[in-house]
Amino acid sequence: MLVAALRETAAGERRVAIAPDAARALTKAGLELAIEAGAGLRAGFDDAAYERESIARVPDVAALLAKADVVLRVQPPSDAEIAALRRGCALLSFLRPLDQPETAARLAQAGVTSFAMELVPRITRAQAMDALSSQASLAGYHAVLLAGVSMPKILPMMTTAAGTIPAARVLVIGAGVAGLQAIATARRLGAVVEAYDTRPAVKEQIESLGGRFVELPLDTSDAEGAGGYAKAQSAEFLAKQGELLGARVRAADAVISTAAVPGARAPLLISAEVVAGMKPGSVIIDLAAATGGNCALTKADETVIAHGVTILGPTNLPAAVAHDASRVYARNLATLLLHLVKDGKLQLDLEDEITKGALLTHDGQVVNPAVRAKLGLS
Ligand code: NAD
Repeated sequence: MLVAALRETAAGERRVAIAPDAARALTKAGLELAIEAGAGLRAGFDDAAYERESIARVPDVAALLAKADVVLRVQPPSDAEIAALRRGCALLSFLRPLDQPETAARLAQAGVTSFAMELVPRITRAQAMDALSSQASLAGYHAVLLAGVSMPKILPMMTTAAGTIPAARVLVIGAGVAGLQAIATARRLGAVVEAYDTRPAVKEQIESLGGRFVELPLDTSDAEGAGGYAKAQSAEFLAKQGELLGARVRAADAVISTAAVPGARAPLLISAEVVAGMKPGSVIIDLAAATGGNCALTKADETVIAHGVTILGPTNLPAAVAHDASRVYARNLATLLLHLVKDGKLQLDLEDEITKGALLTHDGQVVNPAVRAKLGLS
């Protein structure tokens, strides 16, 4: 069975779906691996690194796709890239199934059996395949570095002969995987950190990382839904939350916002009025920019400066740390692929929770019920 990865073509994408060390488990299982020549360069893996792991480097993409049984990717394929896939091949990738369901429809039409990394169930058994977590962790880490270099202050307290510089105040909104890593990173860099999440269960996690949990007089007893994810809240709730959180936002030197609800627009929590009341020089790193943003002024992948406040809306921070992001992502892919392979061949057990959960298209059909519903299919 030939497993292939190509150079990612999406703008700004530097990650690669096969990393040399993560590939070892696949070759050990008897799979043959090939990669488009130069595909790993932007992630810091040269062709020699792949060669050392006996991974073939193929310059001709069409020839590679004509033979590949499994294609591994980072970003969802474009229409042209879907058209180039061989009927009957399997694809493992981020596929944005709930916010870009058209991709699923096209993959089904092209006869591709696809697995969306976003759909891997977040159960203990599938933790090593959880690419949302591996990438969100790195995004949370990098968001703090970005905040640090985007503001005119330093993060730690510093005592100098010329006086003491106080530690910066960092507010993290949304303490899921990215938020918790942001709290840990900001604390390590010496900032004073506070955080808020509508899921009451995270209070302890925030405190164990040295952050202060912001208590708001809101009823959040029903905020957690299936799989530990947040439930969407009403417009009234979010308006009230934004108002109550406003005082903490105004007190912060840096806000890292990560609040998200799967399949829905990100909750709007920082209004233009609250931004106007922030200290000049403060910064908002809005990690929810890809799904609309937590701040009303956020523009995806742009820098907005309003009332002296810098608002960044990066949509692909893992690509900024492409080497490490690729290593863990490639391991997530390899673990899922090995789960699907028996005796060197893909053998799909459609009763298995992980296989069934991650499967997006099969036998010419979109099979995931939530994505079918988004496409208006019965
Ligand atoms: P996410 O990216 O969907 O959301 C980020 C955070 O935003 C979440 O913590 C959510 O509660 C929070 N949020 C939503 N609306 C908010 C609002 N109005 N105000 C403030 N915060 C708000 O979530 P994620 O980081 O991918 O994961 C969330 C949770 O999923 C985890 O903390 C965990 O409970 C669960 N999870 C479980 C596993 C596992 O068991 N293997 C793995 C990963 C995640």
